[in-house]
Amino acid sequence: MQTSFIVQAIQSVYQDVLTHEADIEKLDREIGDGDHYINLKRGCQTLQQLCPELAELTAQQALQKIGMTLLSSVGGASGPLLASFFITMAKTLQPTASQKDIALAFAEGVAAIGQRGKSGLGEKTMLDVLIPVAEQFKQMVSDGHSALEIAQQLPHVAAEGLESTRPLLATKGRAAGLGERAIGHLDAGAKSCEVIINSVCRLVIAQQNSEQ
Ligand code: ADP
Ligand code: MG
Repeated sequence: MQTSFIVQAIQSVYQDVLTHEADIEKLDREIGDGDHYINLKRGCQTLQQLCPELAELTAQQALQKIGMTLLSSVGGASGPLLASFFITMAKTLQPTASQKDIALAFAEGVAAIGQRGKSGLGEKTMLDVLIPVAEQFKQMVSDGHSALEIAQQLPHVAAEGLESTRPLLATKGRAAGLGERAIGHLDAGAKSCEVIINSVCRLVIAQQNSEQ
């Protein structure tokens, strides 16, 4: 993975988070405390300001710096959870990472969120998007699919994962206190992760198409 890709991904995610303000904001207002969009936007703004500095680092160092920055700048549950993802991905990723190594590092990052949040699949959180995406990513790499095919497929998995949160009771996070009132609503963190995955996949698709 190249640092220039990480820097471009930050710009792309920030733009898409801004575009989806209304959807993300609404969801945390419905079954959370309404701050998720603000938390996410603050994280994106801080990372964007950091881009010139990140550009000078290796991909591993950049991911580590992103994690530490999210930890210190983003409040709420989501800040430390996303920070764990990046810090663990940085630890796992080797400088000469193949597509398989990237998929494994992504899955390790997702597992770190579960460890930090003491959470797993089916608890109406961001993990309902991230776990299926990580599984599909690993599977498609081991089946020999190209980066383009993987980037075309993962947004569908993320969308299904997001939709899967709708009928669930929340057992983690603030919505856990709502009991059955949370049923029928999508989880805000799952929505923002779906937006982020779409954004990064679109970037990969654009790069792959321009290389052909
Ligand atoms: P807070 O809940 O502290 O207000 P945010 O609103 O920024 O923080 O983030 C809420 C999102 O974080 C939820 O929608 C959910 O996806 C995710 N989340 C909360 N707790 C956990 C957990 N224990 N494990 C995984 N994800 C969680
Ligand atoms: Mg919140």
